[in-house]
Amino acid sequence: MLVLLVAVALIGANASPVERKLENLGDSPLFHSRLFEGDIAGVGPNRDRNGIVDEKLLWPGGIVYYELGSSVGKTIFFISYRCWSMVGRQGGKQELSLGSGCHWRGLVIHELGHAVGFWHEQNRADRDEYIEIFWDNIWPGMEYNFDKMLPWENNYLGENFDYESVMLYGEMAFSKDGESPTVRPKEPNVVIGPVWKKTKFSESDVRRVNRLYECFGETRPPPPTVPDFECDFEENDCGIVNQEGMSSNFERSYGTLGGRTGYSLKIEIKADGGYGGGRLITPYFKMYGGRKGCLSMDLFMKGGGADKYTILRQNGETKEIYLQEEPSNDNWWEVINLTLDIDGDLRFFLEGLMNGHNGDGVIAIDNVRFQRRAC
Ligand SMILES: [Zn+2]
Repeated sequence: MLVLLVAVALIGANASPVERKLENLGDSPLFHSRLFEGDIAGVGPNRDRNGIVDEKLLWPGGIVYYELGSSVGKTIFFISYRCWSMVGRQGGKQELSLGSGCHWRGLVIHELGHAVGFWHEQNRADRDEYIEIFWDNIWPGMEYNFDKMLPWENNYLGENFDYESVMLYGEMAFSKDGESPTVRPKEPNVVIGPVWKKTKFSESDVRRVNRLYECFGETRPPPPTVPDFECDFEENDCGIVNQEGMSSNFERSYGTLGGRTGYSLKIEIKADGGYGGGRLITPYFKMYGGRKGCLSMDLFMKGGGADKYTILRQNGETKEIYLQEEPSNDNWWEVINLTLDIDGDLRFFLEGLMNGHNGDGVIAIDNVRFQRRAC
């Protein structure tokens, strides 16, 4: 397993610290105020932050190429300001920092663990069964570092929560005064301890690395299934909102349309009501490395005033993916199913344009669904 060999080669055979005459700052160089969970770079609110559930973040063949302090492509590039890393292989040159105070075996292995593809143990969705968080003891503003990941944002690789994992922060992580504990193990007599004092990947960590990279005959378990987005509008609008500043808005309304009774999102115009138009925006759908999607919905268009219905996708660029220009489906619902090739998180715009010069018009949508697979 070359990944492990990299770690061993880098830090030498015995005892931490890996270099002498370095100051001991404990775990504090991990607790960056401006990085995700303190020491993870490259994570934005609407970017994929899928880590080990996304196969494109794995290192091909389990080989991590690295350079110490120089700049060559397709490698980890070690720089020196605090301790941080990106999660998984980013492609091209990526950075991993082992700055002042980071030259302890545990901290070095921890950052390499991120680069190999691991998130923090304390952010697992099931962590509340194993640790208690003392929210009042956390440095104000740093509470988000203890947010739980969603179950499908992580692949546990068949391993339970592990108190000995090098990816688990200790009792004093993000402590407001460095003395008040923020984490307490729920199992009696367990002491986690600071990361810098750890000396190696735990046994569970090693099994995870080997399963993730299918070394020694291990098989990588599939990532968890992401729930579909489904909205029938009977209870609410499920986070689908009108874009501000349009000449009209879709409204969630109850009634009978095309032989169906219930709630839908509807935009209407009266004859000679001029032009009108509304645009709905769906929530962002995280893809977790998935490359296919299926957007479906039911569309109702009736009357000459119902001019045009357009669906656009947006991730970086905005692109039209569906256009219905005629109210051809007078008095019944048309089912739209769109299979999409996708790269990264995305959201959809659902536009209805009205022209009252051509008479009354209604456009309504219902049963909006997004699945992370082909239709
Ligand atoms: Zn970390």
